[in-house]
Amino acid sequence: MRFDVVTIFPEFFSGPLSCGLLKRAMAAGVASVFIHNLRDYAEGAHLQVDDTPYGGGPGMVMKPEPIWRAIESLSAVGEEKPLVILLSPQGSRLDQATAFRYATARRLLLISGRYEGVDHRVAEHMVDEELSIGDYVLAGGEIAALVVIEAVTRLIPGAVGNPDSVKAESFVEGILDYPQYTRPPEFRRWGVPEELLSGNHARVDRWRHEQAEKRTRINRPDLFHHVHG
Ligand code: SAM
Repeated sequence: MRFDVVTIFPEFFSGPLSCGLLKRAMAAGVASVFIHNLRDYAEGAHLQVDDTPYGGGPGMVMKPEPIWRAIESLSAVGEEKPLVILLSPQGSRLDQATAFRYATARRLLLISGRYEGVDHRVAEHMVDEELSIGDYVLAGGEIAALVVIEAVTRLIPGAVGNPDSVKAESFVEGILDYPQYTRPPEFRRWGVPEELLSGNHARVDRWRHEQAEKRTRINRPDLFHHVHG
């Protein structure tokens, strides 16, 4: 799986890509991530990537031409044409089903905005999808791009040590995961539920299922009603 990211802050990515799952997946050749500086696709003496908004208002808007040139140029490299995604709070919201769908693509090209956002012609004419990572506004699309890269990479076969761990977690069955505990069995008088210490697999499974449902009903009634009607 290949990810390309277009950003005005390439340096943003060095920390997150150099540890944990993403580092391992890249070292194993399961994922490759290429970070591109949008200014490399800008023209003029000042390599300008933003300008004032038509109609007035605060801040700056990212210009369409450098983004167009970046998409054209990056789509032409490599064997696969990328699915081109604009990170935007106005996009459809990322969920685990979307992450699974992206994990079947061979290549994603992620466009990070900054400032007041991106000239709307990018969303209208240049990208395949507009994607939001949630109902809040970040200062830029870099963290959103990293969220996509991590959520998708861990679903690619070979990226996670034990493939069972991504099959039985939150959202996969439409509900949240069950609570997990580890040693010690008691800490400051807070015990581990006795079902988990029972050694009885059927009892453990029943308890986990009940807890997953209960937590979903309390914390995410929207998910619970979606599954249970
Ligand atoms: N004025 C825009 C609005 O209200 O919709 C917000 C622009 S935001 C400050 C700048 C950039 O951050 C966006 O172009 C986008 O790339 C990124 N961004 C902010 N929030 C995001 C979110 N929830 N999901 C994905 N990208 C986001």
